Amino acid sequence: MKNPPSIEELISALRCLPGVGAKSAQRMAFHLLQRDRPGAARLGSALTHVLEAVRHCQRCNSFAETDVCALCSSSQRDPSLLCVVETPADLMMLEQAQCYAGLYFVLMGRLSPLDGIGPKDISLDRMLQRASDGVVAEVVLATNFTNEGEATAHFIGEMLASRGIRVTRIARGLPVGGEIEHVDSGTLARAVIERRAV
Ligand code: ZN
Repeated sequence: MKNPPSIEELISALRCLPGVGAKSAQRMAFHLLQRDRPGAARLGSALTHVLEAVRHCQRCNSFAETDVCALCSSSQRDPSLLCVVETPADLMMLEQAQCYAGLYFVLMGRLSPLDGIGPKDISLDRMLQRASDGVVAEVVLATNFTNEGEATAHFIGEMLASRGIRVTRIARGLPVGGEIEHVDSGTLARAVIERRAV
């Protein structure tokens, strides 16, 4: 016995979410239809709206509703510091740790040869352009302490050092294999303060 086609389509669409398999997708779909039709309508319109409204900031590459995001436009930030992170979630974590007053660049990924993600698949060209604006004096590498994050930091470090840009890496207050998104603010703040030259 199959669900009506529109429900099957919803179930299949929900499976694009991370960690959502066939069963939990069906549970979510039934929940929305049985118990929360207003919630379902809100979810639908929020998705449509966010896809129209959100793009990448021209400076930091993070999500923004304007060409240049509020953080990049702020006069309160130190433009001589540029922190490179993997994801917008990492940027948010660093902001919550309140340990860093410079600007950011978000790669929207990491190098991962096993998954076929090479230098051209993350925004390294734009990062390099951004770091070479003549105002940036130090690039702080805050990619994760996973194999991929370390490899990405190493690659960027070499690339920038060969252009004479000062590069630092956040300190290993973070556990081996540690992901910034899951570290507490205090540990993250210490890692940024104790960053070292690479
Ligand atoms: Zn920005």
